[in-house]
Amino acid sequence: MSERPRLTVLSGPSGVGKSTVVAHMRKMHPEVWLSVSATTRHPRPGERDGVQYHFVDNDQFDKLIANGELLEWAVFAGNRYGTPRQAVQDRLDRGEPVLLEIDLQGARQVRESMPEAQLVFLAPPSWDELVRRLTGRGTEPQHVIDQRLDAAKVELAAETEFDTTLVNTSVEQVAAELLALLGVV
Ligand code: ADP
Ligand code: 5GP
Repeated sequence: MSERPRLTVLSGPSGVGKSTVVAHMRKMHPEVWLSVSATTRHPRPGERDGVQYHFVDNDQFDKLIANGELLEWAVFAGNRYGTPRQAVQDRLDRGEPVLLEIDLQGARQVRESMPEAQLVFLAPPSWDELVRRLTGRGTEPQHVIDQRLDAAKVELAAETEFDTTLVNTSVEQVAAELLALLGVV
């Protein structure tokens, strides 16, 4: 009996450590494939086009939507983000696991269009620790941090919509738990 290839969504409030956990996991297991989203957000120092994101302008994002090229998309803290459909479909067609790191609105859209997807929520050990991490990262001005913390309250309230919650206390432990959910180890 062959199991249907699985799509896994990792969501959680900004600053909880999603990118850190995924980066750690891929250092140990480079074969884990993560979808590269398109975004209208400007690159942070060190981010490269085509690696962390496909950085596009508003017109390019409009075209992606109009051409039906996005599996899902959302506005988050003033910028648009979306998952390119084709690359995900190609992987699933080949029977390979797919990981999306997207926000709550995107996770809800995936649940609608692909009910077999597994939804994983990454939670902070506490609210104060989330604020510390988001502020400590030092990548956003205070008004953007405030916007992201407002969004975080909504995201934390939606935790029960997810199939599994992982609490990001230890990056190593959460990465191992996520690998197990992906069926890699
Ligand atoms: P996200 O991708 O969810 O927005 P990041 O991966 O950028 O979050 O992490 C936000 C900040 O928190 C970074 O400075 C990162 O180093 C730190 N961080 C991530 N996970 C942990 C952890 N388990 N313990 C302490 N700090 C963490
Ligand atoms: P950041 O700007 O910190 O990289 O990402 C902000 C938020 O956008 C995070 O919650 C991240 O998971 C989410 N995000 C990244 N890519 C996508 C995407 O393709 N679709 C959706 N819906 N959210 C995304």
